[in-house]
Amino acid sequence: MIITIDGPAGAGKSSTARAVAERQSFRYLDTGALYRAVALAFVEAEATPTDAKAQTLLSNCAIDLQFDDAGALHVLLNGTEVTDAIRTSEVGDMASQVAALPAVREALLPVQRQIAMRWSQSTGGVVADGRDTGTVVFPHADLKFFMDASLEERARRRHEEYQAAPNEETPPLEAVRDEIRRRDAHDRERALAPLRRPDDAVSIDTTSMTFEEQVEAIEALIERAKAGTDPSSSH
Ligand code: C5P
Repeated sequence: MIITIDGPAGAGKSSTARAVAERQSFRYLDTGALYRAVALAFVEAEATPTDAKAQTLLSNCAIDLQFDDAGALHVLLNGTEVTDAIRTSEVGDMASQVAALPAVREALLPVQRQIAMRWSQSTGGVVADGRDTGTVVFPHADLKFFMDASLEERARRRHEEYQAAPNEETPPLEAVRDEIRRRDAHDRERALAPLRRPDDAVSIDTTSMTFEEQVEAIEALIERAKAGTDPSSSH
């Protein structure tokens, strides 16, 4: 079973997707981590997305996601663990820039599908989150969700995440709000695979929802899908 959750930054996708996957004994596919890993390669090489060396850099990027025995996800860039290094605002910003490059999206498409195939065969299900997982990567997903929340609430949540992050100083709330606004505009306005709600997705506005409510809303529809009921019939 493939479940997709798309939406803008800070809407609650990743934490919800991770929890849903855990409770269902599925795997969580963090597609943003793949874009972040490419972005880290650019940051480390001090390259811009328009650099002449961008193509070579990309050809030399081998990215993979692996779960350890304890169920923790590891992001690998050319065999090196970059799980924490990709969680900075600099890398997030660069991810949004490199994600607009056709060569990057083209390269990551088969990576996402291969990982999903590998994991769904071993666990029976994958919960993928990102910007185009329901529209482009898994257009035939069994269940699609689009999570959104007000800009103010998303900024507040992302700010909290920075406070909890081990390797970064917390920027002021206004700076986080600007960063999210900039990245969303970039993600929505790009020509290729822009962030948009899939026509057949269930929308969830998480502005006033608790985390538990978000997880339960998705799990309820998964249970119905598993039981063979059409989840879209009530929406
Ligand atoms: O979800 P996260 O914030 O980690 O994603 C980082 C960036 O990667 C996003 O701003 C977006 O530009 C890009 N991305 C994408 N398509 C996806 C997942 C992420 O373009 N499926």
